[in-house]
Amino acid sequence: MPNSEFTLIDRYFAAHPVRRPDVALGIGDDCALLMPPGGQQLAVTMDTLIADVHFFAAADPEGIGHKALAVNLSDLAAMGATPAWATLALILPQVDEKWLDAFCRGLFALADRHGVQLIGGDTTHGPATVITLQAHGFAPPGQALRRDGARPGDRIYVTGTPGDAGLALAAAFGKATVANPYADYVLLRLERPEPRMTQGLTLRGIANAVIDVSDGLVQDLGHILERSRVGARLEVDQLPLSPALLASLDRQTAITTALAGGDDYELCFTVPPERIQQLEQRAVNWDCRCTPIGVITAESGLRLLQADGLAFRLNQPGYDHFRVTSDFQP
Ligand code: ADP
Ligand code: MG
Repeated sequence: MPNSEFTLIDRYFAAHPVRRPDVALGIGDDCALLMPPGGQQLAVTMDTLIADVHFFAAADPEGIGHKALAVNLSDLAAMGATPAWATLALILPQVDEKWLDAFCRGLFALADRHGVQLIGGDTTHGPATVITLQAHGFAPPGQALRRDGARPGDRIYVTGTPGDAGLALAAAFGKATVANPYADYVLLRLERPEPRMTQGLTLRGIANAVIDVSDGLVQDLGHILERSRVGARLEVDQLPLSPALLASLDRQTAITTALAGGDDYELCFTVPPERIQQLEQRAVNWDCRCTPIGVITAESGLRLLQADGLAFRLNQPGYDHFRVTSDFQP
C-alpha cells in the first residue's frame, strides 16, 4: 500500500516535528490531547478552500498551503488572539506527491513562523480538492477584539493596501491588466496573504471593533456597522492604494477594487479619539501601512465621500458566495 491514507498522513503531516509544550499528544491517535492555558479564552475559527472556487486548481500548491492557514490566522488576528494549534481536513481527488509536498511546505513554513502546531485532521478521497482548516488561539477574557464594539466618533483604519488581491483576481479572469512591474507583487498579494498577527495583538486595549477584510472592505466594514448598530463615513480619497493598483487601473476602478475586491486579509478597525495617539505610536513599528479612512457615525448606513464632498458611486457590493456565482467584475 504505497499510498494509503495512513502513509500519506505519516509522510506529510505526522513527520513535521512537534514543538509546542501545550500539545500532550499530537497527530497519530484518535484525538489530540491539549493543555489550554488556564484562565484564557479559546478562540476557534474554520475556513474551507475549494478548488476552482477559492483557488485555481492549477495554482502553485505551496501558495495554497500557505493560504489555507493564512486565512484562518487572519481571523485569529482580527480577534486579537495568539495562535496555537490547527487541524486540517483534506479531500483529494488523487494523490499527487509533488502537490502534497509543496502544499505542506507552504503550510508548515507559515505555521512555524507563527508558532502554530498542526495537531490533527482527516484525509479522504473525493471528487475535488477541498481544504478545511481550523485554527485555535488564546485571548485573555474580555480582551478579544469583536465586531460589536464600534462607537460614534471612532476613527476607522485599514492595514496595508486593500485591492491588490482583487486586481490579481481581475487580471486572472482577463478583466484587467497589471501594469509593469507589478505582476509578481499582486499575485503574491492574492496567493500569499500575510496574516496581520502583530497588528491584531497590538490592537488589544486600543481598538473598539476589528474585522479582517476577506470579502471586500465595504462589505466587511458593514458587518462592524451592523453588529455595533452604528453607521460610517468613508473618505474614498484617503484609501491607501498601492502603486500597483494606481498604475494598473483608472481612479474609479482602483477605488472600487479597494472597496469591493475580496481576498485582502487586511484588518479594518475602529479606534476612539482618546486612543488614536497610542495607536499611531505603535503602528510606526508595523510592517504594513495603517491608514485612517473614515469615522463611525451615530446615523446608520455607510456613506462614501470624495475629497470634493460628492458621493462616490460604488456599483459592486463585495463578495458573497450565494449572491455572486460568476467571477469578479471590477
Ligand atoms: P480516526 O480514524 O480515528 O479518525 P484517522 O485515521 O482519520 O483517525 O487519523 C489518524 C491520525 O492522523 C489522527 O491523529 C488524525 O488527527 C491525523 N490526521 C489525519 N489526517 C490529517 C491531516 N490531513 N492533517 C493532520 N493530521 C491528520
Ligand atoms: Mg478514531
